[in-house]
Amino acid sequence: MTNFNPDTIGKFRLDDKVYVIQYLKDLKSVDPCEICEGTKEVVLKGFKYKCPSCFGKGTKNIYKRAWTLVLNSVEDPKLHKIYSKNISLRLSEPDTPKVSYTLEVHTCIGGVVQDRLKNISESSLFKTIEEAQAECDKRNKAIESKKL
Ligand SMILES: [Zn+2]
Repeated sequence: MTNFNPDTIGKFRLDDKVYVIQYLKDLKSVDPCEICEGTKEVVLKGFKYKCPSCFGKGTKNIYKRAWTLVLNSVEDPKLHKIYSKNISLRLSEPDTPKVSYTLEVHTCIGGVVQDRLKNISESSLFKTIEEAQAECDKRNKAIESKKL
């Protein structure tokens, strides 16, 4: 490949501010265990055992995964800054490079702000919050319709 110019590849440039979406796991509810029905034990041939399904807690955490906007604690809480662009080319598909970006992500964990670098594919980055939210809704709807 000649005249390789990374600026002409991909939607974003260095220092661009973008909105990030990710497929995250969220705690939806805490339900009673369906095996022991919340009693924390099961009875087998007259003997009581700690419920092997909930490990004696009596409850089960129900998680739901969904596409969501990733929060960033600094400045505009939903904006992330592009730190570097990563382009990979397959020899079999030299005209369709795969683009991902490393982002500076400031997350607030337990009141402590942490700076981290994260690698995220171009398809999960957006220029506006409306585009990002619309893509989340679209992907979540597609997942829901597959479940039915
Ligand atoms: Zn149980």
